[in-house]
Amino acid sequence: MWCIFIRGNLTLEEEKKAKTAKAEEKKEPVKKAPAKKAEPKAAPAEAKKPSAAALKAALAQMEEQETGKKKNTVLLRVLAFVMWALAIVAMYLPQIGELELPFGAMRMLVLKNYTPMIIDIVVAVALCIGAALLWKKANHIHPVKSHNKIAQFIWNQLGLIMAFLIFFVIGLVLILKNDKLDAKTKKIAIAALAVITLLVGGVSADYHPVTQDEVDKVTQEFNIDAQDPEGCFWTTYGKKYHLYGDCQALTNTAAENLHQTSLQEAWENNRGELCSFCAKRAADSGATDTTAITPNNP
Ligand SMILES: [Zn+2]
Repeated sequence: MWCIFIRGNLTLEEEKKAKTAKAEEKKEPVKKAPAKKAEPKAAPAEAKKPSAAALKAALAQMEEQETGKKKNTVLLRVLAFVMWALAIVAMYLPQIGELELPFGAMRMLVLKNYTPMIIDIVVAVALCIGAALLWKKANHIHPVKSHNKIAQFIWNQLGLIMAFLIFFVIGLVLILKNDKLDAKTKKIAIAALAVITLLVGGVSADYHPVTQDEVDKVTQEFNIDAQDPEGCFWTTYGKKYHLYGDCQALTNTAAENLHQTSLQEAWENNRGELCSFCAKRAADSGATDTTAITPNNP
């Protein structure tokens, strides 16, 4: 049933007509194609829709299977840890190691040397956010495999946890231990650390966490026929592929630049990533709503 929604039976001409027709449709409740509920093969009614993130991960993994090329998420994770380590260096190394190095925001705090301190903090913040983005990217291709809720939380929110550890926990310990700082400076420094932690943590948290269980569920249902010649859409100049010919990202695409091919062909042309609008729409439609892309269906 998943395959239905990517199989546009429309020519481009019809696609455009459908788009203009849509505006009118809004008034009256659309004649929805009768929901084929009694599908014998369907799994026990699953009310929960797949998230857009799970859908994207499922497609990424299916692409890996089709092309035989694994996406290197291990590299992303290693890079993330290198960047987290460098963030600690930028923030604290001279304090931790008692080294007289000319950097490390905490050392500058003691020396009351604020310009390099701010630079160090900005560098540490950038490294931390970059690390979290890489980590999230890896998770959205190869999600956490554990069934344990706590392990899933730690894995998915590692960016948030690292931000808390690096900017708040380590900083707090070092500030409280430092006897060269007066009480007022300590208070200001701790407040500053709290603000930085909130900022970095807010960006680093994963608001759309995915698990491999969710992805497997999607993959099971998502029985895409990769050979289907009407599988997906992509453009000459765009980097992503689309499930819907009338996607808003395709509005300004000239007909000669719009390609309608099988998913496999799109992947072979380096359009491996699904458009966000289409991912959200497919997730919203519950992926069974055939009217989404075939409004002319009798
Ligand atoms: Zn799209």
